[in-house]
Amino acid sequence: MCGIICYIGKQNSVPILIEGLKRLEYRGYDSAGIASLDSESNNVLFVKSVGKVSELEKKVKSHKFKGDYGIAHTRWATHGKPTESNAHPHTDCSKKLFLIHNGIIENYEVLKRELEKKGHRFVSDTDTEVLAHLIEDNLDGNFEDAVRKSLGMVEGTFGIAVIHRDFPRKIIVARRGSPLIIGVGEGEYLAASDVNAFIRYTNRVIYLNDDEMALLNDDNIVITDLNLNRISKEPETIDWSVEGDDKKGFKHFMLKEIYEQPKTVENAIRGRLIEGEGISKLGGLEPVIEKIMNLKKLTFVSCGTSFYAGLYGKYIFERLTDLDVYVDYASEFRYRNLKLSEYDGVMAISQSGETADTLAALREAKRKGALVLGLVNVVGSTIAKETDAGVYCHAGPEIGVASTKIFVSQCVILNLIALLIGRRKGLSIFDGMNLIREIKKLPEHIKTILENGNVIRDIARKYLSFKDFLYIGRHLNYPVAMEGALKLKEISYVHAEGYPAGEMKHGPISLIDENFPTVAIATNGFTYEKIVSNIQEIKARNGKVIAIATEGNTEIEKIVDDIIFVPETIDILQPILNVIPLQLFAYYFADFKGCDIDKPRNLAKSVTVE
Ligand code: GLU
Repeated sequence: MCGIICYIGKQNSVPILIEGLKRLEYRGYDSAGIASLDSESNNVLFVKSVGKVSELEKKVKSHKFKGDYGIAHTRWATHGKPTESNAHPHTDCSKKLFLIHNGIIENYEVLKRELEKKGHRFVSDTDTEVLAHLIEDNLDGNFEDAVRKSLGMVEGTFGIAVIHRDFPRKIIVARRGSPLIIGVGEGEYLAASDVNAFIRYTNRVIYLNDDEMALLNDDNIVITDLNLNRISKEPETIDWSVEGDDKKGFKHFMLKEIYEQPKTVENAIRGRLIEGEGISKLGGLEPVIEKIMNLKKLTFVSCGTSFYAGLYGKYIFERLTDLDVYVDYASEFRYRNLKLSEYDGVMAISQSGETADTLAALREAKRKGALVLGLVNVVGSTIAKETDAGVYCHAGPEIGVASTKIFVSQCVILNLIALLIGRRKGLSIFDGMNLIREIKKLPEHIKTILENGNVIRDIARKYLSFKDFLYIGRHLNYPVAMEGALKLKEISYVHAEGYPAGEMKHGPISLIDENFPTVAIATNGFTYEKIVSNIQEIKARNGKVIAIATEGNTEIEKIVDDIIFVPETIDILQPILNVIPLQLFAYYFADFKGCDIDKPRNLAKSVTVE
C-alpha cells in the first residue's frame, strides 16, 4: 500500500532515503524503517520506528551513518499490528538480508510453517517476513536466483526491494500488482513505489511490469522476467512537476488543493475544447473512437471518491449520450459474473492508477473482451498502461489523502468524454457549445465560492459539537451528497451518511432530531421543489439544516438554519460547484477538531491491496 524508496550511487543514501520517505508520507502509513549499507566497511544502518518518519529520522541522525546504498519503507499494516518488530525492513535468520515489501503474501501461512520446520525463526507477525526467510532458504550462492525462485513460490501481490551484505552494491526490486518505478540518475539509480519519492533527483524513469525484476548495480540495470528472460527497456522522460510538494503557505495540502481547483479545471480542459463545433478533443481516446461509438453499454468502475465521480458520470452520460451507463464499485465488479463483449466499455476511474480493486476489475473486463478505458491522474501508472485508451486528469500530484481536486477534475473530464460521444450522435451543436461555454466559466465560479471560505469556516465551527450528519441530494446532486459525507468522515472521524434525498422517508428520517443535522444540496434545478419538501420534513422534526443553495435564493433562507450560496450554472455542471463548499466544510470541521487532515488515521492515498 505504502512506500518503497531505494538508492544506489555515490552519495550518502541515508538523507536521500529519509527525504524519499517524507515524500511518500501523504500516502498514509503507520511505521517506517531503513537499511543502508556502506560498501567500503560493509557496515549497516538498520533502524525502524513506529509513527512518523520524523521519529525514524531522529533515530537515524543519532547514528551519524553514511551508506552509499540502501532501502527504506513506510508500512500500512495489513498483517500484524503497527509495531517496531512488524515494521520493514525484515531480515532473515543470518541478519544479512534486508527486505521491504508493499502488498500481501497470500500463502504466507503455509510457507511460514514449512520454513519454521526447517529451523527458520520468525520475529514478526507480518506476511512479509516469510519472503526474507524464503530467499535465505533458496540462497545457494546466487542472490538473484534466490530472489527469483522465491518470488515464483509466493501468491499475492508485491512490490519489493532487497539487499544482502554478502552481495554488496546490489539492490533487487520486483513487482506483481504493486507499483515499482526505477529512476535513472547520473551515476546513480533510485527505485520507488511512487515517482514523487525521487522526482527531485531524476525524471528519467523505467516502469517495471508485473512479474518483472530488476537488479540495480553501480553502473547498470538488468531487467528480467521471473523466468530469467532479459527485457530491454529504455528510460522514459516524464513530465511530473514537484510543485505539489510545497504547501504554498496553506496550513494543509488538502486546503491548498481545494484552493487550486480553478486551476485544476483549466488543466483538465486545456486544448480539449473546440467551442465553434461544440465538441471536445481527447487525443487519448482517438485511436478507439470507432469502438467507443459502437458500444452498447458503458460501466464506470472505481472506489471511494472516484466511485462518486463515476456516479455523477452516469447522469452526465445519460443526458449527453445514448449509451446505457452503469456504475459499480470495483471491489464488487471484479467478482461478478458479467457477460461482456466488445460492445461493452468499462472505464476505470482512479487518481493513482494503481488502485488494486480497480485494476482487478479492469483486468476482469479485459479478459471478457470489453473495451477498457481509463480516467487517471498519475501518468504511466498501471491502469493507464493496461487500458486500451484513456484520458489523463493532468491535475498534478494530489498529496492530501482525502481527494478534492481530482474529484472535480474527474467530473469535468467526464463531461468532455460524454460531449465527444454525444456530439457524434444525437447532441446538437447548440447544446455542445452551451456546455463548453459553461465549462469555461467554472474556474471563475469556483473562485467565487472559495472567496466565501470564511463563511463556511464559521458554519463549520458552529456545528462542531455534533457527532452525526446526514447529507442529502437528488438526481445529479446525489453523488455530491455522498462525496460530502465521505469527506467529513474521512478527515474528521465524525459519522456522516450520504443519501439520495428521496430515500429519506424510507429509513434515515428516523434518525432526525435536534442532535442530527442535515446538509441539503438545494441548488436550483428540476428537483429543487422536492428537496425543499425534504428540508421541511426535517425541520418538522427539529432537525437542523445547512443548505447549499443558488445565489439569490431568498426563499430558502426562511426555512434553513444556515446557508452556503454558490453561483448558478447549467444543471449538469452544478454538482461540480456544489461539492466545493462541502470540501471546505469538512476541512474546517476537521481542522477545528485538530485532526491530522492530510494523513487521516487508517487511510492510505493509493490503495494497492484488495
Ligand atoms: N503486508 C505487509 C505488512 O503488513 C506490507 C504492508 C504494506 O504494503 O505496507 O507488513
